[in-house]
Amino acid sequence: MIDEIVERYKKLDYVTNVETKNKIVFVQVAVNEIDDFSLTVSLSDAFPQKLPKISLDEPARYGFLPHVCWKGIVCYTDNQGVNIDFTRPADVAEFVLKKATEVLSIKKCEREQIFYNEFEGYWNQQDLIWHSYLFDDLKDKLELINVQVKKTKEPIAFFSDNKEVKLNDGYAFSNKCKSKKTQVRAFYFPLENKFPPPLPKETIGIQYLEKLIDALSNANKSLWEEYISNNDVPNTLYIIASQPRPSGGKSFFGLYVPYGLNWLRNKKKYNHQVIPLAILRHSPNYLLQRAGANTNLVEKKVAIIGCGSVGSRIAELLIMSGIRNLILIDYDLYEADNIFRHILDSRYINVNKATALSDQLQSRFPYISVEPVKERVTKWLSLFDDMDIVIDAAGEPTFSRKLNIEYHSNRNNDASLATTWLEPMGLGGHAVLSDGITNGCLGCLYHKDNTETLISKTNFISGNQVVSRNLTGCGGSFIPFGAIDAIKTSEMTTRMILDALSDKNIINGAIKYKWWCGKDELAKKNNIKTTSWYTECNNIDVSEQINSMISEGCPVCRMKN
Ligand SMILES: [Zn+2]
Repeated sequence: MIDEIVERYKKLDYVTNVETKNKIVFVQVAVNEIDDFSLTVSLSDAFPQKLPKISLDEPARYGFLPHVCWKGIVCYTDNQGVNIDFTRPADVAEFVLKKATEVLSIKKCEREQIFYNEFEGYWNQQDLIWHSYLFDDLKDKLELINVQVKKTKEPIAFFSDNKEVKLNDGYAFSNKCKSKKTQVRAFYFPLENKFPPPLPKETIGIQYLEKLIDALSNANKSLWEEYISNNDVPNTLYIIASQPRPSGGKSFFGLYVPYGLNWLRNKKKYNHQVIPLAILRHSPNYLLQRAGANTNLVEKKVAIIGCGSVGSRIAELLIMSGIRNLILIDYDLYEADNIFRHILDSRYINVNKATALSDQLQSRFPYISVEPVKERVTKWLSLFDDMDIVIDAAGEPTFSRKLNIEYHSNRNNDASLATTWLEPMGLGGHAVLSDGITNGCLGCLYHKDNTETLISKTNFISGNQVVSRNLTGCGGSFIPFGAIDAIKTSEMTTRMILDALSDKNIINGAIKYKWWCGKDELAKKNNIKTTSWYTECNNIDVSEQINSMISEGCPVCRMKN
């Protein structure tokens, strides 16, 4: 195979020389008729399933090249979604060499901009680097921050005193970063201009610290000197620095300088090792953007009534989508019966559901505020005062209808009301949304031919049938609903809520009522009759149906008209 690759390389017009030893191919490529690069193509045993490592010989000779890391490795693919035809190794080898050569062909005038955009990628490749988390975005002023360090002096995480970054107390990862660690002072050095890293394969020495201080703006340099004269600077320095990225944002990097202050004071021989720090982001904005969440939802407040298998999933999905403020309401205890369809784990059995869910979410997600209310709330209206949306996931039709009436009769604020419920036996789920201004509400589903009905028009199960939820003593049981039905209903409802929160006007369109429809096998098996709406709902034009559901209307949402 290797001979085939060598032969192939020799035929390429941009290749000037090829040699080989073991599984390594040494290639010289000519780029733009200006630069000549000597490359080493290392084929591992996994080649061609795994692409070869291509590195540049004597990389420091060329200064800083984009997509060439500190180790001299040419980053010719980001490995995301790569699909390799492993039956054609020579083609794969030619392809990767072509890609690597393209990377090296980037015009000289463009190199600097691309390189500084990828500064962190380059910096983080250094040997003997320590990785630590940064729980903040940090601003443009030099400041004193805190770092948690291990006994080995290795820093684990940097925290600032920034009041805007509200890290919830129960967040497990920050607590882990702090547990059994020593907190010491650290500094943040924001640089205004680009600041070069060490050349490829060069290690950082104490002079790098001096250069870094020199690169501070005059204002920040004065602050630094003030800290020193006030004796606020410890002898061992932990520094996080940032510099602007040409395409926006900042690049973060750090230094650990043992006895750094001592050296700065007397500039005598330095016998310690300066260690570069790779800064891993753990700030709210970064993490939410990384997850594709909507950062515009940060200020929105949502209350969820009912923390069962639907309500708890909605809470989880809303937080994962960028909602940071939740109120959870449930007076019930979490029971072992629900362990296979609820997101709460077994530690919370016999704990109040709202408290347990708040605890679990705050342990799992940072930068959120989740307030549990473990009572049967009776003064509903005050709940709407502060909220952007209230979600009724209690799954109790009587309660839901009453809440809908109260909401429409008394409200004088901007909050919306969403109601969601599940059909038993995997038949489906529903969600209704009211903005309190335009017509259409849960009550409309309980009105037919201008008369109030006790059964929703959209029910999938015909009235007067017993769908028992009680499994005790029953050998061959049926499941009223499964976890995936709850998840599907939660997902549908969450999308509806997110649309409404992102653009209030959407509510005026066609999203007031949503449903999903499952199979009726289980219902048939249990002799449960389904309604005509169950049969129709998947065959009829959606918009027409939604109109017919709410157009006839009910007195509840038309009280104000
Ligand atoms: Zn209505």
